[in-house]
Amino acid sequence: MKCAVIVVGAGRGTRHGGDIPKQYQCLAGQPVFRRTLLGFLNHTQINSVIAVIASEDAPLFAKASEELNVRTVFGGATRTASVRAGLQALSGDAPDLVLIHDAARPMVSQDLVSRLIAAATKTNGAAPGLNISDALKRLGEDGAPEDDVARDGLVQVQTPQVFPFGLLVAAYGQVREDEAFSDDLAVARAAGMDCTLVEGDPDNFKITHSGDLHRAERLLSGQSSTFCVTGTGYDVHKIITGSQMMLCGVPIKGDLALLGHSDADAALHALTDAMLGSIGAGDIGDHFPPSDPQWRGVDSTVFLAKAKTLLGQHNARLLHVDLTIICERPKIKPHRDAMRERLAGLLGLELHRISVKATTTEGLGFTGRGEGLAVMATVSVEISEH
Ligand code: MG
Repeated sequence: MKCAVIVVGAGRGTRHGGDIPKQYQCLAGQPVFRRTLLGFLNHTQINSVIAVIASEDAPLFAKASEELNVRTVFGGATRTASVRAGLQALSGDAPDLVLIHDAARPMVSQDLVSRLIAAATKTNGAAPGLNISDALKRLGEDGAPEDDVARDGLVQVQTPQVFPFGLLVAAYGQVREDEAFSDDLAVARAAGMDCTLVEGDPDNFKITHSGDLHRAERLLSGQSSTFCVTGTGYDVHKIITGSQMMLCGVPIKGDLALLGHSDADAALHALTDAMLGSIGAGDIGDHFPPSDPQWRGVDSTVFLAKAKTLLGQHNARLLHVDLTIICERPKIKPHRDAMRERLAGLLGLELHRISVKATTTEGLGFTGRGEGLAVMATVSVEISEH
């Protein structure tokens, strides 16, 4: 059975405070939207994920969804129009079930998704519902509480809401262009579809008001396990006569060069290996075999970018980089700031998280004789497991 998810995040509300829409605010180190997407991408029953976003948020979304396998469509003026855009995008490769979810509900659990999928296969749709435990009052014109509202027969409805794809598309076919519904259960009901509720999850709340982000952060700190690992890398290249040497992606002009298959940037090679080491992803030679002619003379930032992508795919976040360059010549100190700045740009790290050091070996060994240059790299990486 094929299941697709439409994550609706085209709203631009900033009710919770802050100057960017709530779904792009940072929650425990990641944008809310990214956490929501990961909740589905990590679920074994989900085959594809589409995000519906506001066109003006495209740069924010690109950053939030970096390295994630998600399609994007632009939403409309209302939630109903946005879901319709998502359904249209899916129609070329129609799933059996479609789940519609709010981007601002990042705490959706695997268990809830599984229960909803199971329920939706037996009915025309399913949504999570929560009983109301607090007293309900109607407000007077002055905002003061007045009459009681009976809780019996009332329920709070969350997302994801799950439907057979063909039935929901048909239901949307009956909705006028200018009609707007509060959710998809309402669209389904208007089309006469019988849907069911499963028990919702109080933690699956929508980030709406200021304080919701803090509540989500408290929950995440209790349930996620985050730990730090270290990766190390080491590389050597032969020093030859030349006009330029690449180190840390910075050209150093002079009478020396490094010999190698690529641009021979030993610093980027050691750093790439350290990053690969932190996630147990082999070494640079596994990903870029020196026997492959396509890597001849290549800019070594390509290797670094690959390691960065792999870290993202492993829920790993680079925290700190420490490099030691071992050589008699060239002098590293005049280039150190340029190297740190270049690495900061390549890795998306702040400058104070990057250290470049240099040392000699007091004239001893191959580095001491100026035959070669060596680089040691150490990276600290945070890995999150949910
Ligand atoms: Mg190398």
